[in-house]
Amino acid sequence: MMRNIVCFAVVLVVADLYLTSGRFVNYVPNDRLEDAKDKVSVGDELTALEDESLDSGVTKNSRNLLNHLIPTREKRKAVKDSSRRWTNNEIPFEIDYFQFNKDEVQIIYDAMYIWQHHTCLRFRPRETHDRNFVKFMKGEFCYSTTHGMNGGQQNISLPQVCFNRQSTLHEIGHAIGFYHEHKRPDRDQYITVHEENIEDKFKYAFEKSNEIETYGLPYDYTSIMHYPWNAFSKNNEITIQTKDPSFQNIIGQTQDLSYYDIQLANLMYNCR
Ligand SMILES: [Zn+2]
Repeated sequence: MMRNIVCFAVVLVVADLYLTSGRFVNYVPNDRLEDAKDKVSVGDELTALEDESLDSGVTKNSRNLLNHLIPTREKRKAVKDSSRRWTNNEIPFEIDYFQFNKDEVQIIYDAMYIWQHHTCLRFRPRETHDRNFVKFMKGEFCYSTTHGMNGGQQNISLPQVCFNRQSTLHEIGHAIGFYHEHKRPDRDQYITVHEENIEDKFKYAFEKSNEIETYGLPYDYTSIMHYPWNAFSKNNEITIQTKDPSFQNIIGQTQDLSYYDIQLANLMYNCR
């Protein structure tokens, strides 16, 4: 059964409590990811995804849309502060190989590969001179330091309880600079937040944010960054109601990057 993504934001940290779950620009084989794989202990060989299997991880709808994409620069949900974009579109990373097993490391690589495949972002093992980097580790709960490059080490915590490819894609999204979809300033046109059903201590996670830059992209019910209908419900009643009922059971269920997730990252980082 599919589990749901729910993160909550705490100033610089976005935490996921209940987790489940382009443009083809300048794809470069992951040479540097290969380097990192060497750091995995003997016997823990990792296999990079083949293009074919990667494509199968992207929704058919997205692929169709991608084929008809007409790039436009006027249309640009992301952190507004451009200083929080990753320098040179490169995201140095470390993985705590003592905390993750082989399958988990593979999922982390898969998720980085998917983001990289659809954008001009590049993940590479951290080198000694890299001050700013992402570290994959297992904390007490799922979270990602937000939003974008904050400076220094920023953790992506993926403990067993919420570990899978969907949540890994989601947490990397925060590190790239993505906010939760339902925090967009225009969200009230698309969803109704039922505060009366939300646990008091998590109500802040449903607040709209003025720090979000939408780049003119439409509200995306299928975003990897969207909460599910019952996120942080205190009574199992609905907390997020979609104005378009057909999306009610879709929000928070997405297994892959959506068309607009990919678009957004490409706009944020000026991918061509
Ligand atoms: Zn989140």
